Amino acid sequence: MFVIMSLNATAADIAAAEQEIRRLGLRADVSSGTHRTVIGLVGNEIDVDAGHLASLPGVERVERVDEPYQAVALSPRNGVYSTVTIGNVSIGGGGLTVIAGQCAVETRELAFETGIAVKAAGATILRGEAFKPRSSPYQFQGIKEDGLKIMKEASLALEMPFVAEVLQISDIAKVSEYADALRVGTRNMSNYELLRALGEQSLPVILKRGMSSTLEEWLLAAEYIACKNGNVILCERGIRTFETATRNTLDLSAIPLLRTKTHLPIMVDPSHAVGVPSAIPAMALAAAAAGVDALMIDVHPRPSEALVDGAQALTPNVFAALMPRLQLVSKIAWSMQFLYWQMPGRSYLVERTG
Ligand code: PEP
Ligand code: MN
Repeated sequence: MFVIMSLNATAADIAAAEQEIRRLGLRADVSSGTHRTVIGLVGNEIDVDAGHLASLPGVERVERVDEPYQAVALSPRNGVYSTVTIGNVSIGGGGLTVIAGQCAVETRELAFETGIAVKAAGATILRGEAFKPRSSPYQFQGIKEDGLKIMKEASLALEMPFVAEVLQISDIAKVSEYADALRVGTRNMSNYELLRALGEQSLPVILKRGMSSTLEEWLLAAEYIACKNGNVILCERGIRTFETATRNTLDLSAIPLLRTKTHLPIMVDPSHAVGVPSAIPAMALAAAAAGVDALMIDVHPRPSEALVDGAQALTPNVFAALMPRLQLVSKIAWSMQFLYWQMPGRSYLVERTG
C-alpha cells in the first residue's frame, strides 16, 4: 500500500502521515519527488484501513501495491530509484560501476597484482572470494579468513572497497569485520534464514539471482533483506537453460523488466553468466547498453593458473581494453530517450497515471 500526498501537502501533513503509519506498526518509506511525496508502507498491512489513511490531512489517495513485495517495489517510490553505497562508491542513479578481481583470493601477491591492474583500468570495487561454494566437495573451497585479511590489506592499500560472499548465517559477523559489502551467491538466493539475517545488519548486500529463479522469486528474496535493510543490489548472473555452449544463459531482459518493478540498483556478472572469455566483453557491453548500474567481472593475471574459474577470467590487458568501451556505451545508454525510467522530470508513477 502507498499513500500519495497531495501537491499542496505541508511538511507537517507528511510527518503526521508517517507517524500514523508507524503507529500502525509499519515502516514508512518516504520518497520525495520533484512535485509530490509518496509514502510506501512496509510490513503486514492486512489489517490497515486504507480509508483511514486516505482521510488524513494532505493525503490525496491511497493505492494498493499490485506486486507481492513492498520494500523493493518501484510503485510506492514515486519513480525514485535508489542508490546503494559500498565503501565510498555509489551504485545506481546513472553511470556504471565496475567491480573486478579474481573469483577467489589465492595469495597476497596475486591479490595485489590483480587489484593494482583492475584499479589502473578503472574498476572502483574489488572482488576476491574467501569462502567458495563449489559444486564438488573435492574442489578448492577458498582460503577462508586468511583470504579476508588479504583482501582487506589490498583494499586499504589501493583505497578500493571490497565485496565478499557469505555462505551461511555464521559467516556474517566474520565477513563483516573485513568486507564493505556482503554477497549472496546464486545457490543461496532461496536461503531465507540467511536473507533474514542479512536484513538484521546494515552492510549493503549484493543478491545474485538463483540460477532457476524467476524475477518475482528473486524480488521476493530481496524483500526478505530489504524489509529491514534497504541496501540491496540485484545481480543477474545467468540462468539454467538447455544450452550448454555457455556456462549459463545471461538474461539481459531482466534489466529493463526489473526497472519497471523495483527501485533497487541492478548489476550483471557476465563472467559467471557466460563462462566463455571470448564472449564476456560483448555481453558486458550489452549489459551496459541496457543501462545496468554495475558490472562484476572476473580478472586474473594468469587465468590458466587460477584455482577457481580461470576458464572465464579476463586477463588484465583485455579488461583494460574493455573498460573505456564500457564507459562509452554506458554513457550513451543513460543519455538515450528510450530509457524512459531515467528521463528527467518523468517517473514510473507519472507514466502509469498519465
Ligand atoms: C561468484 O561470484 O564467485 C559466484 C560463486 O557466483 P554465483 O553464485 O553466481 O555462481
Ligand atoms: Mn567463480
